[in-house]
Amino acid sequence: MPVNVGKYREILAGLGNVTLVAVSKIKPVEDIRTLYELGQRDFGENYVQELVDKHAQLPADIRWHFIGHLQSNKVKYLASFVHLIQGVDSAKLLKEIDRQAQKCGRVIDCLLQVHIAQEETKFGFDEEALDELFKGQSGATLKNVRVRGLMGMASFSKDSTQVRREFRYLKSLFDKYALVVSVAGVGGGTPIKGGGDGWSLQILSMGMSGDYQMAIEEGSNMIRVGSLLFGERVYPAK
Ligand SMILES: *Cc1c(COP(=O)(O)O)cnc(C)c1O
Repeated sequence: MPVNVGKYREILAGLGNVTLVAVSKIKPVEDIRTLYELGQRDFGENYVQELVDKHAQLPADIRWHFIGHLQSNKVKYLASFVHLIQGVDSAKLLKEIDRQAQKCGRVIDCLLQVHIAQEETKFGFDEEALDELFKGQSGATLKNVRVRGLMGMASFSKDSTQVRREFRYLKSLFDKYALVVSVAGVGGGTPIKGGGDGWSLQILSMGMSGDYQMAIEEGSNMIRVGSLLFGERVYPAK
């Protein structure tokens, strides 16, 4: 299936300040090149080996977002080049990213994935775990990761009220922890230093092909769109 260039232009036209991450998982490098030539630079991938292969074949100024579930033992393959790791779903993983980033002599930007959907299978922080991370002192020791925001996936549901509620909840957490992170004393914590010029919540990544417009209405400033641009994904039979 060819890349839907018309759709790409249509999405761009309505973006405003929202960043579009084109999700290219299981799609060929030619499809990525098509959008690259139109000026797209942010691409999202879910699988480590696939991302490593594509990174090697494509222009160096692509900003690669890792949006899948990342296993700790695979961080090392991405650490030297990844632009933003969006699916950080545990404090343990954050520590490993810090360790590998240090080895590469860089600071890696991360989003914390928050569990907002009803489905049990989705990974992520809950409010309690966010509290622990943001109000505790662990951030101060992680000099090579910079937490820049939150990411979430709504339920796979036709019930738009439910989906909207989940987006709204994530936005409320984003606003709450943006304050906790940036203002001394709020929530009993001191500002978290962490890596780079310090942690700050600026990116709220929510919205996919089926729900990105609603996500933007609810305050998203980064959307991750795959099938609308590249066509349905057909996974090979195992
Ligand atoms: C695959 C994927 C997307 C893109 O999904 P589409 O429905 O094809 O737009 C977005 N976010 C994450 C985390 C994904 O895994």
